[in-house]
Amino acid sequence: MSHIYVLDAGVLFSSWTIKVPEGTFATTSSVLDEVKNRPSKVRTEILTLLDRLQEDFATPESIKAVRLAADKTGDKSVLSEVDIEIVALAHTKKSLGMKTTLVSTDLAVLNTARHLGLTILDPSGRFKHEIVWSLKCPACYHKSSSKAKELECPVCGTIMRRVVHRKRKSR
Ligand SMILES: [Zn+2]
Repeated sequence: MSHIYVLDAGVLFSSWTIKVPEGTFATTSSVLDEVKNRPSKVRTEILTLLDRLQEDFATPESIKAVRLAADKTGDKSVLSEVDIEIVALAHTKKSLGMKTTLVSTDLAVLNTARHLGLTILDPSGRFKHEIVWSLKCPACYHKSSSKAKELECPVCGTIMRRVVHRKRKSR
C-alpha cells in the first residue's frame, strides 16, 4: 500500500515535496484554494506535482475528533478552519486503515495531530514535544486552565497569556 502524506499549505509551498520520491500527496480543497491564489511561479511548481497530489475530504466525525483534541491541548484558539480540516483529513485516512503521515510546519497543527495519535513530520524540525497550554496572568502570575483565547485575570483584570502548561516527551 502506498504511503500517503497529508500536506498543509506551508509544506506545499516549500521544496519538501521534491525530496520525497515515493508515496502520494493529499490535501484539502481549502488548502488548494490558498495555493491557487498565490503568484504564478509557485503555482506552476505546484501544478507539476498535481499528478501526485489528490484533493480529498475529511469526514464530519474526524472534524469533530480534531475539535475535541484541540480543545484539550489548548490549540483551538489558534487553529483556523483550514488547519482543522487538514488534521481531520489525516485522521480520516488513518481511520480508513491507510498509512498516513501529516506533514506540517505549524506547531499547533502538529501538536493537535500528535494528541490524536497521528504520525507527524515537521520538515523544519522545530516540533519537539507535545504541549498542553494554559493561561497565566503577566501581572500577578495567577494561573488558569481555561482554554479561552482571551481571558481577563479573575484576580487583577489583566489579559492573560498562553503559556506551556505541560510537555510530553516525543514518541
Ligand atoms: Zn492577574
